[in-house]
Amino acid sequence: MTARAEAVRSGGIEPDDVETWVRASWDLSLTVREWWRLLVEAGYAYPSWPVGLGGRAVSSATARMVTAVLARAGVIAPPVGHVAATLAAPTLFDHGSEAQVEELVLPIALGEASWCQLFSEPGSGSDLASVAARAVRDGDEWVVTGQKVWNSGADTADFGMLLARTDPEQPKHRGMSYFVIEMHQPGIEVRPLRQMNGASSFCEVFLSEARVRPERLIGDLHGGWRVAQSTLGHERASVAGGLLPGLFTARSGTHGDLDRAVGEVIEAARATAKARKSVIRSGAVPSKVMIDLARQHGVAHEPVVRQDLARYLTQVRVNGWTMRRIAAARGRLTGSDGSIAKITTSRICQVSRDLSYRIVGAHGMLSGPASPLGGELQVVNLASPGTRIGGGTDEIQLNLLGERALGLPREPGDEQDRPYRELKVGTQR
Ligand SMILES: Cc1cc2nc3c(=O)[nH]c(=O)nc-3n(C[C@H](O)[C@H](O)[C@H](O)COP(=O)(O)OP(=O)(O)OC[C@H]3O[C@@H](n4cnc5c(N)ncnc54)[C@H](O)[C@@H]3O)c2cc1C
Repeated sequence: MTARAEAVRSGGIEPDDVETWVRASWDLSLTVREWWRLLVEAGYAYPSWPVGLGGRAVSSATARMVTAVLARAGVIAPPVGHVAATLAAPTLFDHGSEAQVEELVLPIALGEASWCQLFSEPGSGSDLASVAARAVRDGDEWVVTGQKVWNSGADTADFGMLLARTDPEQPKHRGMSYFVIEMHQPGIEVRPLRQMNGASSFCEVFLSEARVRPERLIGDLHGGWRVAQSTLGHERASVAGGLLPGLFTARSGTHGDLDRAVGEVIEAARATAKARKSVIRSGAVPSKVMIDLARQHGVAHEPVVRQDLARYLTQVRVNGWTMRRIAAARGRLTGSDGSIAKITTSRICQVSRDLSYRIVGAHGMLSGPASPLGGELQVVNLASPGTRIGGGTDEIQLNLLGERALGLPREPGDEQDRPYRELKVGTQR
């Protein structure tokens, strides 16, 4: 047997294999549903996932190679399903039973399901362990009542990762459970929120006696905190990921693009990109664009601006290398990679906003196509505070680094041991 045949037999994949497969499989008349099924059958949707669930159980380095070949071919990316592939599937791999993984992960790989995260509440954000939404048993099922907020993509989600209180007699960290809830049911009302940049990317979710099947409890009863920590860890780590240039995205789930032709989705994506002429990536102005902006606005010669541009360029470059090292180490670089990635990236977004506003001066008060960068600058700058908050605020990341990485003492207080029902939490404080 040749070395190549040996590699394939043992689950190894060569770039040539993927290229040959793409040439034979990709066809602009396929529907998105058909394309995603082909990716799953080949094990190229999420190559590091188990065989039969869209993967081939290969290493993350091989998985990255497969994605890079797909990106070079300019095809539609594997389905993301909002937070389905980045948060839900990894959490299910960590804590789900075999039956839960079988039932819930395949629809994610096939793009049939989009997910949202139902954690935060009006009184429980940073202090997530204080969630008040209640899940009460009714026969076999769970009945959930409460309010969630800031839930990204909840208006198009098919499933929600839900954290709810199941035993108020226990201390707050020990009396909650983690469920998978079906979003399309009478007890759930989703109200999209409007942000200050005009976009609407997250929602309020009202649960009024919504139902959860018994087999949708993930992990132990009252053990939801441990499962939620896993989701939050994957969320922090996902900051260092991102879509490779060349790949096109299509939307998963009931409200998605499944029955559209891949050619049509790509054409629409190209037309949107052309119309927006977007030069901003990941919530910050690229350093080259920032320098051009300074030239256009006649401030590139000013010593203080030049100094700040140099500082910004250095910060962006160093952060890019850090993100690549973190992505390559798959979260095992320092043990707190996710918090580091979150803080450094959010800081760049804040510096990008402040420096770009200083450069464009009074033009920073404008919005719309005639304002700087075709209106994109204002949209991104007004979203910049969100990068400090979503996925756990910068202050909470610093707490995590202090307590978990540096071994500093925990915050004082006896809340860890008192029953939840005796605490004044959230809006009761
Ligand atoms: C873009 C975006 C997307 C989001 N998506 C989702 C989602 O999909 N699902 C979901 O469930 N939630 C989501 N959220 C909500 C997010 O997780 C919470 O907003 C966040 O955890 C902060 O909670 P809070 O808003 O209640 O602020 P608070 O917890 O009230 O914090 C207010 C301020 O106090 C500080 N603070 C609080 N406690 C401490 C402490 N112990 N030490 C030091 N400082 C502290 C905070 O850092 C912050 O500056 C999203 C938020 C944003 C901005």
